[in-house]
Amino acid sequence: MKRRDFLKGVVGSCAAMATVSGSVEARGNNPRLPGAVGLLFDSTLCVGCKACVTACKQANDKVLDVPADKPYLDRTMHLSPDALNVIKMYKNGKPEVKDREVDGFAFQKQSCMHCVDPSCVSVCPVQALLKDGTTGVVTYDKDACIGCRYCVASCPFQIPKFNYDDPFPEIHKCQLCNHLWSENKFSACADVCPTGATLYGPVEKLMAEAKRRTSLNPGEVTRFPRRDIEGKEFGREQKVVKYVDRIYGEKEGGGTQMLMLSGVPFDKQGLPDLHERSSASVSETIQHTLYSGLVAPAVILAGLVGVARRNTKNHTDESPEEDAHE
Ligand code: SF4
Ligand code: SF4
Ligand code: SF4
Repeated sequence: MKRRDFLKGVVGSCAAMATVSGSVEARGNNPRLPGAVGLLFDSTLCVGCKACVTACKQANDKVLDVPADKPYLDRTMHLSPDALNVIKMYKNGKPEVKDREVDGFAFQKQSCMHCVDPSCVSVCPVQALLKDGTTGVVTYDKDACIGCRYCVASCPFQIPKFNYDDPFPEIHKCQLCNHLWSENKFSACADVCPTGATLYGPVEKLMAEAKRRTSLNPGEVTRFPRRDIEGKEFGREQKVVKYVDRIYGEKEGGGTQMLMLSGVPFDKQGLPDLHERSSASVSETIQHTLYSGLVAPAVILAGLVGVARRNTKNHTDESPEEDAHE
């Protein structure tokens, strides 16, 4: 088959495929589950004590990185197989005023966002990563994992970490301390947080609390719940800082079960500016379009067979003439 004929066959097949695919319905974002639980991180309340980093490590049997004289102060700065939750610092110019973008500083939590429609779950070929149908927590099953690391590549927040140097490597990421629920405990980071900067609870209630805070005027005095929003425990009264007018995680990437508030724009703190449509819904729509009923391979094959047959026929028809020239 000549190259030109091959290309004609592929182009014709693609056109046929496009016609067929027009009938395949696009998959929208998966909705937020009514029983979803998560965290509200309010950067304006965070004092950078890192008690949550140490508590997370202790709750998840991870190796601490603490100086001998300060065993409570974990120094870990980056997510790794041994750190599922870290606190990062934003600094600009002379970092004099907290929660100010210019010549200011702020603290930012980094851990799994428990996406409403997670791309890590969508790409995992063996369902080692699953979204719980009730709580929406994204869980990991090391026995099912084949180590392909598609989840690492697909996460828009660069959360899953793979321990390459381990003879039995696994994916490591926050699972919201779901192993503690049977003991009536909840996420260690929220449990230990002295200011309520990290707050645990049903996402619906956390969202309402986030909206309440952003509707307050800067300087207004209010009390902030601590630990578990349903626990009715409050910190001391304090003035509200001017928030950025956005609840990060409400819509970003199809929404997340970790919600965030901040006085400094989220993109300045390294959070991605994601579309409202989840990448899982986009990639699965493309996949279903191409492979719905094996349309793509079947149509391409049919196109190429057609071109091959036509060439064979032409060749057969032309043969006597070629003979005649001889
Ligand atoms: S424990 Fe609370 S205040 Fe301390 S670093 Fe963590 S989120 Fe911030
Ligand atoms: S933040 Fe990343 S690892 Fe966590 S649920 Fe979303 S896609 Fe998965
Ligand atoms: S590395 Fe494991 S969890 Fe991640 S996508 Fe591959 S099989 Fe799934």
